[in-house]
Amino acid sequence: MYKIVKREQIADNIFEFWINAPHVTKTGRAGQFVVIRIDEHGGERIPLTISATKGEDVRIVFMAVGKTTQQLAALEEGGESIRDIAGPLGMRRR
Ligand SMILES: Cc1cc2nc3c(=O)[nH]c(=O)nc-3n(C[C@H](O)[C@H](O)[C@H](O)COP(=O)(O)OP(=O)(O)OC[C@H]3O[C@@H](n4cnc5c(N)ncnc54)[C@H](O)[C@@H]3O)c2cc1C
Repeated sequence: MYKIVKREQIADNIFEFWINAPHVTKTGRAGQFVVIRIDEHGGERIPLTISATKGEDVRIVFMAVGKTTQQLAALEEGGESIRDIAGPLGMRRR
């Protein structure tokens, strides 16, 4: 489980999340992406870009456009977690 460290709505339907995911930040950098599965019930996996990393936390910025991104946007910081984060994926820039 990956804890939501910080959640902020930064514009209409646009959300910034910082998620604790040490296995991603170990080698992952902005421009690569992760694939997120919110919980074991909501089976859909969605790709989201890593926009920054800090320590063991990864930043994602996303637009709530459909089922899974709206479900993600409804999660709260502090107590709530994400079931799976696969990554980092994609090419790493130098
Ligand atoms: C490699 C990769 C990286 C991505 N990184 C990001 C990211 O950092 N931030 C982000 O917000 N999205 C990103 N996306 C898009 C994101 O994966 C989709 O928004 C998400 O899968 C939508 O899932 P959903 O179940 O919420 O919506 P769905 O129910 O699958 O889609 C609902 C409707 O919204 C439309 N739609 C889907 N995505 C978008 C969009 N981004 N803008 C406008 N309309 C859309 C669909 O065509 C559909 O009509 C990325 C996609 C890829 C392939």
